[in-house]
Amino acid sequence: MEALTEDEVRASFVNCTKGEAQRINLPGPLDAVYWEHLDFLGWRDPRADQRAYIVLPWTNGPVGITLRAPQPKRKSLVRSSMCSICLTVHSASGVASFVAPKAGPAGREGNSVGNYFCTDLQCSRYVRGTLKSDAATFMEESLDPAERIHRLRAKLEGFTRSVLGDVLV
Ligand SMILES: [Zn+2]
Repeated sequence: MEALTEDEVRASFVNCTKGEAQRINLPGPLDAVYWEHLDFLGWRDPRADQRAYIVLPWTNGPVGITLRAPQPKRKSLVRSSMCSICLTVHSASGVASFVAPKAGPAGREGNSVGNYFCTDLQCSRYVRGTLKSDAATFMEESLDPAERIHRLRAKLEGFTRSVLGDVLV
């Protein structure tokens, strides 16, 4: 994706208020991000671990989505799980359930969309092989990176559409 400035990132969020977007803790200096290796910028809030954010290129500019990662109520018995965006298989802690408020009136009425993502939101790196899942030895991915990137983008687009609903951006 193309590099974004802090103002562009803050202005991109579709499912929180402008005030909330101004207070979001960014992942660090954005000029240190390797944008050309990313399909989306994803990060956990460095000061509030249950909050997470993704920003991705969209039709008329970037779209940002705020996510919440509820703490699991009990320890999962599942030994491994798969990210729904990049389909990387992780040990149980490598995947987390995230919830995104929907954009617009639907979100203000309390509607949200949930999905399983890589806990660290580094899907772009897993599909390129620059970051390895701790469960990589159990399940080798047969697709090459270009196909995995294509699939990631399609899955991410589907998730973004479900957050946007009828809201045009
Ligand atoms: Zn992932």
